[in-house]
Amino acid sequence: MKTIGLIGGMSWESTQTYYQLINQMVRERLGGLHSAKLVLYSVDFAEIEALQHRGDWDATARILGQAATSLQAAGADFLVLCTNTMHKVAEQIERAAGVPLLHIADATAQALKNDGVSQVGLLGTRFTMEQAFYRERLELQGLEVLVPDEAERETVHSIIYQELCQGIIDAGSKAAYLDVVSSLSARGAQAVILGCTEIGLLIGDEDTTVKLYDTTAIHARRAVELALGR
Ligand code: GLU
Repeated sequence: MKTIGLIGGMSWESTQTYYQLINQMVRERLGGLHSAKLVLYSVDFAEIEALQHRGDWDATARILGQAATSLQAAGADFLVLCTNTMHKVAEQIERAAGVPLLHIADATAQALKNDGVSQVGLLGTRFTMEQAFYRERLELQGLEVLVPDEAERETVHSIIYQELCQGIIDAGSKAAYLDVVSSLSARGAQAVILGCTEIGLLIGDEDTTVKLYDTTAIHARRAVELALGR
């Protein structure tokens, strides 16, 4: 089994989901007392969040590059960056560590294509919904990506930082997210990407008619497949 290097803490609310899912999937595949070989480097999200909102992505890349280098030194065979947003600096992180990084958008695009989805809605932070680094990565794989309108993007973004990343799960926010999912579906989305690793804490497939693609679960599953060589 390969050793997975998790770069987490963004936020730790979703990192614990990664840790749980990865171990559950290893146990499902190998049985008995098997669990994942992994190393976790968890950052202080307040530092990262301040730099994001200031637009100082180079500084975030330095912090996460150091984390990645530490994981490599600790024996990680490949890296899993437990946030969609910070894939904005995925290349710098991968370069700093010298081990491969399993890109969350690639894993997600593959899952969508396997299911024959071509037009997909995207929920995430404003950075993920509005900037090119994530959407273009999906578009390069042949997907057509729809994002919520301006007011909806503000709602989706602020609930992530003010609630989900702080462990707050609110019924009103859930209803607001489901409205955004419905409007994406009405605009033609065949499925919706939960492109922020905390959104699965708020909504799930049981809440919607349109299929949801939870990037946390998809990323964790792909990491386990890679670790087990299948
Ligand atoms: N975990 C979130 C994501 O997947 C947001 C936190 C962050 O900005 O890294 O994008």
